Amino acid sequence: MRANRSIGCSVTECKYHAKNEQLCSLDQIHVDRNVTNAASEERDTECASFEKE
Ligand code: SF4
Repeated sequence: MRANRSIGCSVTECKYHAKNEQLCSLDQIHVDRNVTNAASEERDTECASFEKE
């Protein structure tokens, strides 16, 4: 799987994770908010391109 060095990611449960490095393998991802007005990067935003492996 080709790692994209422009997209760092630690979600190894995702089928697009590069596994051997903390990187995503997609050419691009979509980041979305979980609430109407995001105020916290940990709680209110997420990678919408995630797919469970
Ligand atoms: S799609 Fe999103 S969650 Fe999955 S490896 Fe890429 S950046 Fe991480």
